[in-house]
Amino acid sequence: MQTFTLVINGQSVAGDNGQFEIRNPATEESLGYAPISSEAQVNAAVAAAKAAQPAWAALPDAERKSYINKIAEVLTANTAYLAEWITREQGKPLAGPGSMFEMQACVGWTQVAGMLELPPEVVFEDATRRDELHRKPIGVVGAIAPWNWPLMIAIWQIIPSLRAGNTVVLKPSEYTPIGTLEMIRLIAAVLPAGVLNTISGAGKVGDTLVRHPDVKKLMFTGSTRTGKRIIEASADNLTRLTLELGGNDAAIVLKDAKAADIAEGLFWGSFINMGQTCACAKRLYVHADIYEEVIAALKAVAEKMPMGDGMQDGIVLGPVQNKMQFDIVCDLVEDAKKLGARIVTGGNPVFGKGNFYPITLVADIKDGARLVDEEQFGPVLPIIKYTNVDEAIRHANRLQAGLGASVWGSDIAQAQQVAQQIEAGTVWINQHGAIHPMVPFGGIKGSGYGVEFGVEGLKAVTVPQVISIKK
Ligand code: NDP
Repeated sequence: MQTFTLVINGQSVAGDNGQFEIRNPATEESLGYAPISSEAQVNAAVAAAKAAQPAWAALPDAERKSYINKIAEVLTANTAYLAEWITREQGKPLAGPGSMFEMQACVGWTQVAGMLELPPEVVFEDATRRDELHRKPIGVVGAIAPWNWPLMIAIWQIIPSLRAGNTVVLKPSEYTPIGTLEMIRLIAAVLPAGVLNTISGAGKVGDTLVRHPDVKKLMFTGSTRTGKRIIEASADNLTRLTLELGGNDAAIVLKDAKAADIAEGLFWGSFINMGQTCACAKRLYVHADIYEEVIAALKAVAEKMPMGDGMQDGIVLGPVQNKMQFDIVCDLVEDAKKLGARIVTGGNPVFGKGNFYPITLVADIKDGARLVDEEQFGPVLPIIKYTNVDEAIRHANRLQAGLGASVWGSDIAQAQQVAQQIEAGTVWINQHGAIHPMVPFGGIKGSGYGVEFGVEGLKAVTVPQVISIKK
């Protein structure tokens, strides 16, 4: 069985602290071994990135852009290979909005970053002075990527950082290291040594990276709990942070929505990647007049979606990625049952190989239930009935989460009026989770701070410098 390697300073290296086994969450087959980095190896990766950064930043902008375009070509050429790794390791199927889709996103986000510009701005000018705002790279960026969209989110962290003249040390999630390590091995081969490095493992590796004095910016996507620990750790070095933390997105279906028209959009907005997506709809508020109709339409969509090993044709839903998340889903559904909620479909784990849990719709449940208030991050959706839209807005806003939300209805002006009252970084209308590489994305409240994507995302991996000239 293959042991996968790190890239440090352009070299392929084994983990100093041994290795750990990775299994396919659908079939439980062993996929190989991922390296465990020692503290010395984290230091070596950061040192390599630090040494490479001045020359990388000094490249003419057109040359850095051309490197970004080369990365997009590498990703395109290796789409099938990397998509297979995503499916075997993460679980999302090759088909549907699965691993081929994730790879297309990796390519798209890279290409767009290659087109973005951050020219100096004249922010003030009069007869006496001219003040220009320049954007400088920060230095070494540390990136900690999650297991739900392991390659795509790593790309979100890496590419803007490189584009802006930073160098990167990335740690993939210990649940899904292989696909990401393979992607970086391929990308790093077309970059100067030290510009992009990896570390891997579980336990102290992430913490060591965050506390390293030469890591000047840290990008993290994951839980609010770990995000808070990263904030504490960043205090010593004043490390800048972009934190994309969990969400508990509310979707509000207004009285004038057409159940049949919105059911499929609501389904994928809630269950893309088996609900293991930061900006999935995780609480559905439906007006009493159309409550049963929406539930029936969603049930019909849910029950026609084939689930299984995503390497097989026709499968569009895979397993839950790991046992930790599977247990959270089981626990929340059992708690909802105890409260007397109605299981419309699903509701019990599928016995046999793999972490399979059916798509589960839970009706007749209220705010305050754990399934509503806690982030399930899995294939279960609580559906709450409301009668007054102000009450739905109040409920949407009552939690600490503030990543995304959506409003569904026929009258767009009314939907927009509702959207403006929701406390979330993005509110979608008649869609959910529809991110785009040109459109800033990020959370408010407990969902973190900083934005990614587009020019705003590029600014987030730079520091401003004002050049002030006396006339
Ligand atoms: P975590 O949020 O706990 O993140 C784990 C990663 O963070 C690992 O790479 C780990 O590396 C690193 N890490 C842990 N502690 C620290 C620290 N103090 N400083 C720096 N890095 C640290 O994710 P889990 O995978 O355990 O998932 C937990 C929950 O997070 C899920 O149930 C889900 O709700 C949510 N989640 C949200 C995602 C999103 O997209 N927003 C994505 C994935 C999960 P190391 O162990 O080496 O320190």
